[in-house]
Amino acid sequence: MKKVAIVTGASKGIGKACAVRLAKDGMTVVVNYSSSDEAARETVREIEEAGGEAVSYKADVSDLEQVKAMFKEIADKYGQIDVLVNNAGIVRDEYLLMLTEENLDKCMDLNVKGYFYCAQQAVLKMMSRKSGVIVNISSVSSKMALAGQSVYSATKGAVNSMTQTMAKELARYGIRVNAVAPGFVLTDMVDGLPEEKKKEYLKEVPLKRFATVDEVANVVSFMCSDESSYITGHTVILDGGLSL
Ligand code: NAP
Repeated sequence: MKKVAIVTGASKGIGKACAVRLAKDGMTVVVNYSSSDEAARETVREIEEAGGEAVSYKADVSDLEQVKAMFKEIADKYGQIDVLVNNAGIVRDEYLLMLTEENLDKCMDLNVKGYFYCAQQAVLKMMSRKSGVIVNISSVSSKMALAGQSVYSATKGAVNSMTQTMAKELARYGIRVNAVAPGFVLTDMVDGLPEEKKKEYLKEVPLKRFATVDEVANVVSFMCSDESSYITGHTVILDGGLSL
């Protein structure tokens, strides 16, 4: 039986690369997204054209009811959920004194609560089969301080911590939980930065380039595969040496 993977925020960026890669690895992939209908359709098209299997599912993963509905529908359709990649996340850079409650809530709701909501629903489906893998996309910002990122860093620090605790709780059910923490990756999130900021950040990366989405997907693929069967509770950093 093909494994079934749900990748949140898979209409573009890192999530899309993970969805495409997991489909290449032989999984049926659910391409979750919240607003970019055409981009999500394009992800599915790309997977199908390469001979893979995928469906798109529109749901805001910071909304518990929408998350419950998505997991129920997917479990009803496929009868199983084997892999969850918690990836949908946003950045709202603001210096502490400028920080608005709206941005604080948005980041917390998606980057932290959304990860819990999806993990809970996935685990409910994985437990009975005594197997499953969860990969939480974190960030190097959880390990190093960048001015203006206190909220984003806090959410990603929470991701690393929840990963450890979930791994300990869920090992007895055969479920592994790990986090992957990229540095700067070439996606809309980094593209949106001012050119000056990008140059400044690039100077700090020992490998002198930003990561490609495929380089992140390679690590996620490994973490989702049986090749990493003895790794749980860890955060793998891929940052070109940035945090050293
Ligand atoms: P991105 O290019 O901005 O893509 C974000 C994806 O998340 C899109 O598919 C978007 O779909 C989806 N999304 C946004 N809000 C959502 C919601 N409420 N519910 C469901 N899906 C939602 O982002 P990215 O750069 O690939 O980042 C992905 C993850 O990697 C994030 O967790 C981010 O923190 C982490 N990360 C990124 C970098 C980097 O340099 N890019 C570095 C370290 C960590 P719609 O457009 O349809 O909403």
